[in-house]
Amino acid sequence: MRKGRLISACLLGVIIMCISGLDVLFAENGPKVVEDRLSSRADDMRIVVVYDNNPYKAGLETAWGFSCLVMGTEKTILFDTGGDGRLLLDNMKRLGVAPEQVDVVVLSHIHGDHTGGLHDFLEKNHDVSVYLPKSFPERFKKDVKAQGAKVVEVEQPLEICKHVYSTGELGTWIKEQSLVVRTDMGLIVITGCAHPGIVEIVNYAKGRFEDDVYFVMGGFHLGGAGRSELEKIVLSFKKLGVQYVGPCHCSGDPARKLFRVKYRKNFVDVGVGRTVTMQDLK
Ligand SMILES: [Zn+2]
Ligand SMILES: [Zn+2]
Repeated sequence: MRKGRLISACLLGVIIMCISGLDVLFAENGPKVVEDRLSSRADDMRIVVVYDNNPYKAGLETAWGFSCLVMGTEKTILFDTGGDGRLLLDNMKRLGVAPEQVDVVVLSHIHGDHTGGLHDFLEKNHDVSVYLPKSFPERFKKDVKAQGAKVVEVEQPLEICKHVYSTGELGTWIKEQSLVVRTDMGLIVITGCAHPGIVEIVNYAKGRFEDDVYFVMGGFHLGGAGRSELEKIVLSFKKLGVQYVGPCHCSGDPARKLFRVKYRKNFVDVGVGRTVTMQDLK
């Protein structure tokens, strides 16, 4: 009886091995499976910085604030809108991106250097969903709706489109959401100002989305941090397994400098006009 069971178990094992072997074969040769594999990751994704106080590409204007586009994903997302609409639209134009290409706007938090460009943007394209923290003033939501856009109030983490998520509202004083893109290499976290704390956000994303954080970019809000605090933060990033960093906006020059020294070739220089692709992160 026991011997019979053992033989059955062995047979089952052989069958499973055969099936998985065939699967590998199909995955390598069959177009269908390969196609499915490609569509299951966000490898074509690119991030285009359209608004930042740090210069990068000649011919673009810098100003205090932050905005970037996430492109090549199921939906084209404008994350934050900088402080000035005219400047935002000018920079987008110079980078060859039309406002009509945007499907979704995500606002990280209420500060004017992240929301100031929204009104002018919606005048060009109101056929978008605006994802904003639920804690935003009712007046703000009303104005967005009055311009013809759809408002999505975010409280808990949610999926914006395939592979792209919001962390949900984090923090207590200034509530803020960050953007998370799931790739085969791990998570990409994009922050506006990181008021809830950059390490806290990264830690939260890692736990909530159950994957390693591969790349973190955006405002780290470390302008007032001293050397020992900065050292601690870089160490926390390393401990959390963050492979690439691209601090910009309100990160501050000392933080950018230290991250550059500690991350060396894995430091991504982010400023206005920078495009970050998955190729830059390998
Ligand atoms: Zn802020
Ligand atoms: Zn800011």
